[in-house]
Amino acid sequence: MKIKHIDHIGIAVKSIEQAGKFYTDVLGLNIQEIETVAEQKVNVAFIPITDSEVELLESVEPDGPVAKYIKSRGEGVQHIAFRVDDINQCLEELKAKGVRLIDQAPRDGAGGAKIAFIHPKETNGVLVEICERD
Ligand code: ZN
Repeated sequence: MKIKHIDHIGIAVKSIEQAGKFYTDVLGLNIQEIETVAEQKVNVAFIPITDSEVELLESVEPDGPVAKYIKSRGEGVQHIAFRVDDINQCLEELKAKGVRLIDQAPRDGAGGAKIAFIHPKETNGVLVEICERD
């Protein structure tokens, strides 16, 4: 498999409007776009930094995965995503190596990406996403 670079860091926040101010007003970055991923019950704010992005994740439902995450662990870094050039091949390779996966097959993520999560028990508690996008 070929890991290209860190695609994004996903940060769970209660409010994109409130949390975004640090990145815009203090760091001088721009929120490029805010997208709703209905399947994940989440709004995603994209903040590009060269090859990578910070993605602020805000739940749109009280029972969404990000809301549950904040309830149990508080706001903060929720996952880290590695860009791969071929997600299907990467998943096959991970399976062949006996790595436990949350997603056995790619699904649609924000920004038109194909994504899959590796089980955090394999990564010392870090939720790792692999993603492929053009
Ligand atoms: Zn992500």
